[in-house]
Amino acid sequence: MTAFQPMASLVTYPFLLLAPALAVAACSWRAARGERALRSAWMLLAAGLMLWTAGIFLSAWEDLFQHLPQSVAWFSDLAFFLYGVPVLLAVSSVSSVSSRQRIRFFVWMDSGQALITGYLAYISIFSVVPFAGEPLAPISAATLVLVYNAENLLLAVAATLRLIVQPRGGERRFYAILTGFLWVYGIAAHVYNNWAATSDGHAVYDVLVDIPFLVLAVAALAPWPKRVDIEAAQREQTLAMIIENVSPILYTVALLVLSISLMHHHFQVGTVGIFTALVVYATRSTILQGRYIRVQNELHEARDRLEQMALTDALTNTANRRRFDQALALECNRAVRHQYPLALLLVDIDFFKMLNDRYGHPAGDRCLVSVALALQSALPGSGDLLARYGGEEFVAILPATDEAGARQVALTMQQAVATLKIRNETTTGSFVTVSIGVALFEPAQGGVAEFIEVADQALYRAKQGGRNCIAAVDRGACSRHVAH
Ligand code: GH3
Ligand code: MG
Ligand code: MG
Repeated sequence: MTAFQPMASLVTYPFLLLAPALAVAACSWRAARGERALRSAWMLLAAGLMLWTAGIFLSAWEDLFQHLPQSVAWFSDLAFFLYGVPVLLAVSSVSSVSSRQRIRFFVWMDSGQALITGYLAYISIFSVVPFAGEPLAPISAATLVLVYNAENLLLAVAATLRLIVQPRGGERRFYAILTGFLWVYGIAAHVYNNWAATSDGHAVYDVLVDIPFLVLAVAALAPWPKRVDIEAAQREQTLAMIIENVSPILYTVALLVLSISLMHHHFQVGTVGIFTALVVYATRSTILQGRYIRVQNELHEARDRLEQMALTDALTNTANRRRFDQALALECNRAVRHQYPLALLLVDIDFFKMLNDRYGHPAGDRCLVSVALALQSALPGSGDLLARYGGEEFVAILPATDEAGARQVALTMQQAVATLKIRNETTTGSFVTVSIGVALFEPAQGGVAEFIEVADQALYRAKQGGRNCIAAVDRGACSRHVAH
């Protein structure tokens, strides 16, 4: 450069083009080869660098061929300015929500919105509309420098914030590289803009601008450690969630404010901006609302299914012990309040162990299922509940039923089991039978636990009475259904 002093910029332009082009290649390579989750982030970064490369190319053209003065902001500055848009999208692109929850369409919508916002920001800052055939107006170098410094600082701070809240392995590394690049670039650009633009030998400073791109290229190409931080990936990051949820709205608000401020001078551009902001907002809300309702429904259904499962016996599909406990407490209260009798039947399959031993466990299971169905069919009222109490024992709650009624139901149960004719050679005969203990709720004698205890004693009596038997405690003889 010292040798080529008079035309030093001719020498530095190729390098200024090559350095970002190398960074574009490195980022694209990383996008193609790296982790899936980071693909779009690397692609966005590459897109931003491509805009920057286009900027330097246009700058060379404006400088060397058009001989435009530095103080005119034109296409090169549009490209330099818009470089920040994909980079800012890259900063917010790696989501803390899982890829299953992410809405792919939003990425495109946000990108379009961000590009329009960047364009409008350019128009409002530089008061010139590219692609509209407007005459060129010079802009003060100080404003130009201020805009770029502000943009670079904003990007670096945003990336740093993201780095702080991104605890995961691969993503963390991406943000570390991005943040490093943005700070180095911000400082290099600041030095260049403030010193070089005002000094004569500014071409020497051009080399400074190559540094951040080379650093980025090397960092992107460097070997990538395997992901290790799996546990940290599960950690919830409140700040990350806030940044993620607020940033799309901020983009839309920025677009809206910019459009409104531009309405005065550029009515059509402003109108398009406002319209875009409204459409983006409406689309986002509609999609999110739809998804929210769907997720809510799925959640309710899942909860209902789970509740159903938690209260049902897996083998016999009858109510389980948990459901029985809930129902009995409820029915006892109700019986006291409405002063009606409440009966409980404790049903136990006779010699079930023998059946198991003789015909095997699967046969025992099939017997349990059949008996459960038979017992269920014997219940007369819609308020009655049959539950599996445990093992080969069932229990039936019969609200508004007196002892005679309960004995009648018990008899029907025995009858229903007898008609199944499930083979089990025992002292009571050739087929499966059940013994049933009958109990009536008497609040004066205790609560739920005592009630069950009485039913258990009644069942014991029925077993003592020779099985295939219906008995109540201290009352009446054992009765039984006699198979014909
Ligand atoms: P008793 O007439 O006195 O009631 O005699 P029992 O053989 O029916 O009673 P016992 O309590 O001696 O045996 C109950 C058997 O029920 C023992 C256990 O292996 C069996 N059992 C408990 N739960 C299940 C189950 O879910 N499936 C099967 N196949 N067997 C079960
Ligand atoms: Mg038993
Ligand atoms: Mg038994």
